[in-house]
Amino acid sequence: MPFDLPVKLRGLTPYDPGAIVCDTKLDANESCFNLPADILAKIIDRISAIDFNRYPDPNATALCSTAASYYGVEPDCIIAGNGSDELISIIIAGFSSNNAPILICDPDFSMYRFYAHMCETEVASFDKSEMRIDIDTLIEDYKRIKPSLIIFSNPCNPTGTGILRDDVIRLAKSVDCLLVVDEAYMDFWDQSIITDLPFLDNVIVLRTCSKAMGLAAVRLGFALGKRHLIDALRASKSPFNVNTLTQATGEVYLSEKAWISSCVESIKSSRDSLVNQVEQISAKYPNTIQTFSTKTNFILLKSSLCNRLHNAFVRGGVSVRLLMGDYLRVTAGNPEENSCFLNILDRFLDNEVNLTCRELPK
Ligand SMILES: *Cc1c(COP(=O)(O)O)cnc(C)c1O
Repeated sequence: MPFDLPVKLRGLTPYDPGAIVCDTKLDANESCFNLPADILAKIIDRISAIDFNRYPDPNATALCSTAASYYGVEPDCIIAGNGSDELISIIIAGFSSNNAPILICDPDFSMYRFYAHMCETEVASFDKSEMRIDIDTLIEDYKRIKPSLIIFSNPCNPTGTGILRDDVIRLAKSVDCLLVVDEAYMDFWDQSIITDLPFLDNVIVLRTCSKAMGLAAVRLGFALGKRHLIDALRASKSPFNVNTLTQATGEVYLSEKAWISSCVESIKSSRDSLVNQVEQISAKYPNTIQTFSTKTNFILLKSSLCNRLHNAFVRGGVSVRLLMGDYLRVTAGNPEENSCFLNILDRFLDNEVNLTCRELPK
């Protein structure tokens, strides 16, 4: 008899970060800055002192204490994860229940749905096709659906839009369930609710070192919240979730505040110039692409030409993310990367518009 996979595993495929490897990587919202030599040297120094035969510190004590001071919270109000992705999985596994759905926005970061699926938890969707969350409507939905938890990214991946701090706090105080605010891109905006966490019993904030900080390779993220919530996560995670190399790297890196904030500023200005230039190009070819305002390190474009545009980028060696049929998500890169992207966009639209003109009847 053939062995039958559980229903939830049938048809699942491994995560595909985009099949094509391109020279210019603008598809994963990573930082365009690799580690500078002096910080790398400090990290190598620390790593060479590791006892590789020993298990990691299960509580990542030194790392969490450095991270606590970086984020301005108490050390017992923060926990490290193997990427914030792992923390999402731990939170959903721990706080979801069989008899209440979890409330997820659509569109939002795809992993929320994935981990809900793995926990066999029902998902209720909050419609975000207008690209924004109306807090009053969300509160209404909460009352109707009575979810076990609400999770969304703020600012949002993939829309790039953000919810103001006061609105998030109003939401938190209007619901009884756990509210998870994934601030993966908050380094690029100023509406974090981290300083409000001591007054919020039901809120966990997630942060990651993979985006603004430029540490995607080491897999490091944090969950922050009041002690009873963080204790519950500590108790439900796997014991040695953050390896010693990552703990050492994070501890050195999070002490380099000047470098981190200089990266954030450069990325923000790269993003602003990218948005600007895309808007100039779209003005040259009216009704071809629509842009959205962004609080993140990427921009979202809407176009009926997205599939073909995507192919043109791949042919030109630039990977961008094709989403929801007619959207492209493009990470702000360094000036050369941005101009690779912009050149292909301009040439493609130029060609497209000229073709359309030639096809017009005389
Ligand atoms: C990239 C991303 C993450 C994942 O971060 P890791 O720490 O690399 O796992 C989490 N949430 C959102 C919204 C993201 O875009």
